[in-house]
Amino acid sequence: MEACTLAYQLHQEGARQYLTLPALSGYAGLRHLFTTRYGGVSSGCTASWNFGAWSLDSEANILRNYEILAETLGVAPNRLVRTDQTHTTNIRVVTEADAGKGITRPRDYSDVDGLVTDVKGIVLVTGHADCNALYFYDPVKAVIGLAHSGWRGTLNGIGAAMVETMRMQYGCNPADLVAGLGPALCQTCFEVDPDVAQRFFKKDPAYAQFAVQKGIKYHIDLKQVIRYDLLSAGVLAAQFHDMGLCTKCRKDLFFSHRGHQGKRGIMAAAMMLVE
Ligand SMILES: [Zn+2]
Repeated sequence: MEACTLAYQLHQEGARQYLTLPALSGYAGLRHLFTTRYGGVSSGCTASWNFGAWSLDSEANILRNYEILAETLGVAPNRLVRTDQTHTTNIRVVTEADAGKGITRPRDYSDVDGLVTDVKGIVLVTGHADCNALYFYDPVKAVIGLAHSGWRGTLNGIGAAMVETMRMQYGCNPADLVAGLGPALCQTCFEVDPDVAQRFFKKDPAYAQFAVQKGIKYHIDLKQVIRYDLLSAGVLAAQFHDMGLCTKCRKDLFFSHRGHQGKRGIMAAAMMLVE
């Protein structure tokens, strides 16, 4: 477990606050970040940097928040590409033709929780408010991947599916991948009923080592489940990096679906290849 580095860097630029993984920021060919609640224009329970929660915020605010994200990464908003997250393990291979989809123009795809690309200058974007963000970078092939992994996506193995997609599409060697996890629920904060826990144990009895029972409820360490799956898929332990932050424990900094009883905005994970 020692190889699982707990590390993040908090950046503050005026009102804007976002995080990066030091393990990924060392690469000149890559830009990535994970936003916090602070830095956008939304108000009320979505204050202020909200990238979703459409029923609780205005379309104009959300678009402006994406513009600020694009500015932060040094690109135009029509260079962003957004998932259509429905807790699937579906992954889209993003090409130049997808630029702006889900942000400045409609998507022509649905039910996509993972994005991969080798196109430089296109920003992959996923949304989060307790669910894990999985970052992948292959510095050898210059390929990136970004996925939304809630408990359903984790149970169904979207992490391993990302590794497999990168291998099949671009010939990536899993041992070359650098993988990162953004802020998401910790084991204490991810409490589930026995039926959910049983679904995990049924899929792989080894997951029992990442669960504890408290009364009739279970607490599952989803980050350890993801790590276990990625290592099983060939990612090296030394190249797996976790920000080590919980959205609910740190609801002062993050939107947390559980921590804010559903009245919350959505944060963005973003990643792009640069020339
Ligand atoms: Zn927590």
